[in-house]
Amino acid sequence: MRPFTYDSPRSVDEALQMMGRVRGKHARFLAGGTTLVDLMKLDVETPTHLIDITGVRELASYDVSAARSGAGELVFGALAHMSDVADDPVVRAEYPALSESLWKAASQQLRNMATIGGNLLQRTRCAYFRAPEYPCNKREPGSGCSAIEGISRGHAILGVSEQCIAVYPSDLAISLAAFDAVVDTIGPNGTREIPLLDLHRLPGSTPHLETTLAEDELITRVRVPVTRAGKASTYQKIRDRESYAFALTSAAVALDLDAAGRVLDARIALGGVATVPWRAREAERSLIGETVTEASARRAGEIAFAGAKTTAQNAFKVPLGIATVIDSLLIARGRADVGAGR
Ligand code: SF4
Repeated sequence: MRPFTYDSPRSVDEALQMMGRVRGKHARFLAGGTTLVDLMKLDVETPTHLIDITGVRELASYDVSAARSGAGELVFGALAHMSDVADDPVVRAEYPALSESLWKAASQQLRNMATIGGNLLQRTRCAYFRAPEYPCNKREPGSGCSAIEGISRGHAILGVSEQCIAVYPSDLAISLAAFDAVVDTIGPNGTREIPLLDLHRLPGSTPHLETTLAEDELITRVRVPVTRAGKASTYQKIRDRESYAFALTSAAVALDLDAAGRVLDARIALGGVATVPWRAREAERSLIGETVTEASARRAGEIAFAGAKTTAQNAFKVPLGIATVIDSLLIARGRADVGAGR
């Protein structure tokens, strides 16, 4: 690990002032550190200044009372811990997809350390990215992509480019994408509201640029608009082993059904298969006005993966992803039926 300076502000203003003093000198905000410190040890991230925001208590709270009142939004401070939100009884009951996506991410120890804001900014698990001896366009622009002709079993099949096929790794972001979450930020030029689906960039020809955040911009909170589809939601994750593994495929699904069980609103977001959090909008549209059956769920799954670009090693993700969407839709329908007493 290389030498770096360390500061620990107590307020957002102080954090921004500290960042302003070292801007342009490869400075990074540090929260739970579960990605950044890892990558510093591997010499993949080499910041010269760390600004540890874990003492900024104004960013640590969260409020999910709107989930019960049915109006407004759920508000998660950027420093709320994954474990606190995952365990919250209101989140578990009213927005199960959010709770499940946190429960199925990482180990308990990591969930205790990692934060909501940091989770959204975690970097890819592509093994070549984490090994400086291999060419990688994301780590070193223009050096090449070792995965495209190399080991690509876990890599993306949606949103890929000729430069990079790395999977976006967060589980939480997939459920937040399904609920149209918004990310609030603050920086030297003021505050911004960024739809979660606009926070991450497709790799295109610049895979090293992963988000639309400026280096000196800080996530302050994540907001989830209340939706009738919250309760009939689920996050399903398929992985090589049942614990502590990243997704091969995953789906966050939420449904709002009418009294006859026909779909008024469907949300389908995909993880483990795309370079960014991925909403399957056409698949969602295919369900409107339909009942959720195995056949309509399969059709939605097939639409969701119609644009997949696979390698020989990861083509299995298409049928696996379709099956994940089918299972998720049927589970969400079951929860909607229970809620409606059907
Ligand atoms: Fe690097 Fe992306 Fe290729 Fe992985 S897939 S080696 S992160 S360029």
